[in-house]
Amino acid sequence: PSTFQDVPRAPPDVIFNLTATYKADTFEKKVNLGVGAYRDDNGKPWVLPVVKKAEREIINDPELDHEYLPITGLPSFKEASIKLILGADNPAIKEKRVVAAQTISGTGANHLGALFLSRFYRKGSIVYVSNPTWANHKPIFNNVGFETRDYAYYDPKTIGLDIGGMLDSLENAPEGSIILLHACAHNPTGVDPTQEQWKAIADVMEKKKHFPFFDCAYQGFASGDLDRDAWAVRYFVERGFELLVCQSYAKNFGLYGQRAGCLTFVLRDSETAPKVDSQLAKLQRAEISNPPAHGARIVSLVLNDPALFEEWVENLKTMSFRIQEMRRRLYVNLTELDTPGTWNHITDQIGMFSFTGLKPHQVKLIKEKYHVYLTDNGRISMAGLSSKNVEYFAKAVDDVVR
Ligand code: PLP
Repeated sequence: PSTFQDVPRAPPDVIFNLTATYKADTFEKKVNLGVGAYRDDNGKPWVLPVVKKAEREIINDPELDHEYLPITGLPSFKEASIKLILGADNPAIKEKRVVAAQTISGTGANHLGALFLSRFYRKGSIVYVSNPTWANHKPIFNNVGFETRDYAYYDPKTIGLDIGGMLDSLENAPEGSIILLHACAHNPTGVDPTQEQWKAIADVMEKKKHFPFFDCAYQGFASGDLDRDAWAVRYFVERGFELLVCQSYAKNFGLYGQRAGCLTFVLRDSETAPKVDSQLAKLQRAEISNPPAHGARIVSLVLNDPALFEEWVENLKTMSFRIQEMRRRLYVNLTELDTPGTWNHITDQIGMFSFTGLKPHQVKLIKEKYHVYLTDNGRISMAGLSSKNVEYFAKAVDDVVR
């Protein structure tokens, strides 16, 4: 018998499982609103034209080789990533108190950040995540030994932010807790704090000496404006917080499978920076030795070339505007059908995801009767909607909520 015969079978990943069920469905009008990846109006993956262009340039470079990158990644990629999230003229950069490591996309950034904190942040600290949050947050922190707890975030009654509850949770958390914050386009709710609310959040966190752990998986994708989507992170830096931020280029570059990401630390002084840098290198070495090159080369080329950068911004707008247009059309369709309930949240929420407010039994019904696939919490990926299926989806929603 196998040494591992008593290993309990783990449940399949909910999202990946949903996609598999969708693929196996032979119904013609089936709709997949589960997966968090951009789709064009024909429901197809979209390779950004600027990415194609950069890729050609990289491949045609006669000097290209496939040597290892440095342990903490491609220097030009890291520098550009820091500037992208903090703003090129952020004083923290000039003061040499920012360090970064290239990671296995946003997941790897979260992991390396969590791993570093598990070694070097005060022992016994608790990580607070929003209720709800991205399904992978708790497992990532639990895997490196952290206890995770929820802070109040989403209010099902208003389908919006429970700011009072959130501030209370932060106030009641033990001093010096690690607080995971979604920089923009909150996943799964699509509900973000306003700038005024961010200020109140910063006030409590400063008072309680909490550590901000920003996860930024959708910069530029949320509003179509890179600076606006980075506002909260920059505001916390300006307030003098020591913090870290995880960046993913999966969504905003469409480089899902390339695993290009970055973990950035903003420290209080420049003496600490090389120490943190050296420990990140040590941790990374034992885990992946060094990060993958291809995606990082594409991102670096685009971010460091003004003409390509401009083209990227246009590509980003194509994606974020199509999503906003789908929000608008879904809202209009539901309003025209006079669907019971209020639907303003569809257009108020931002980013790739929307919490529809559909209850689990309605989700079950819409799946069985209309072959529309979404997670049980009622979250839909706006990217799965198109001019071809938005009306069908609206009618399905209308039917199941009546
Ligand atoms: N963080 C959040 C909030 C996300 O929604 C995602 C992707 O869905 C990620 C991080 C990381 O994704 P990736 O590892 O593909 O960059």
